[in-house]
Amino acid sequence: MSDLQTRFDDLRARIAAAALGQATTPVRLLAVSKAQPVAAIAALADLGQRAFGENYVQEALAKIAALAGRDLEWHCIGHLQSNKARDAANAFAWVQSVDRERLISALHTHRDPALPPLNVLIQVNIDAEAGKGGCTPAQVDTLATAIAQAPRLRLRGLMAIPKPHPDPAQRIASFARMAALYQHLRERFPEVDTLSMGMSDDFELAIAQQANLVRVGTALFGARHKHLP
Ligand SMILES: *Cc1c(COP(=O)(O)O)cnc(C)c1O
Repeated sequence: MSDLQTRFDDLRARIAAAALGQATTPVRLLAVSKAQPVAAIAALADLGQRAFGENYVQEALAKIAALAGRDLEWHCIGHLQSNKARDAANAFAWVQSVDRERLISALHTHRDPALPPLNVLIQVNIDAEAGKGGCTPAQVDTLATAIAQAPRLRLRGLMAIPKPHPDPAQRIASFARMAALYQHLRERFPEVDTLSMGMSDDFELAIAQQANLVRVGTALFGARHKHLP
């Protein structure tokens, strides 16, 4: 068995174990493939993984083109500049990093009406970190309303990257605040079904706080490559 297969199997077993007894099952895995070569993505796709996350639009476009025809589901998880919205709106099936009204209107304007609506998550800067993407918790309602009024977009839920506190209790507290925001959003928008949080170091803690989409890179692929082939 390859190392990749071993890591993939171990990861899925850990996700399933963490999801046991949670109301939010099933928990989906997003394979974060930034800085990983096309060959590694293809190898994981051969093992059955469909959803991949990328942070940079140019890097993603090249990989999406190279792997076209494999029926993969691409998620944009990086900060998205409005001038990249045209490319992002049609290359991805999901954009998880929506955090301002201008980006919502740009994605809506550029999404090809012949494609299904673009799935979007509102990114929340849950620990109010300076210089980090994401809206404030207080802005979620306004952004959700704007997305719900854009027919080429489909509001699916929330995403967060909590501050990497060394103290797990602090991270759990951030995840729990996201879970409360998520429940509140679901009361207003019953179609909302996705809470994206948890990475290699903390996805089990996130699942315990209702995450149902975890974004895992290094625990799956190993260390990121500095130079892409
Ligand atoms: C890189 C990245 C991940 C994956 O991080 P790992 O620690 O490698 O699992 C998840 N989410 C976002 C937004 C990222 O940028």
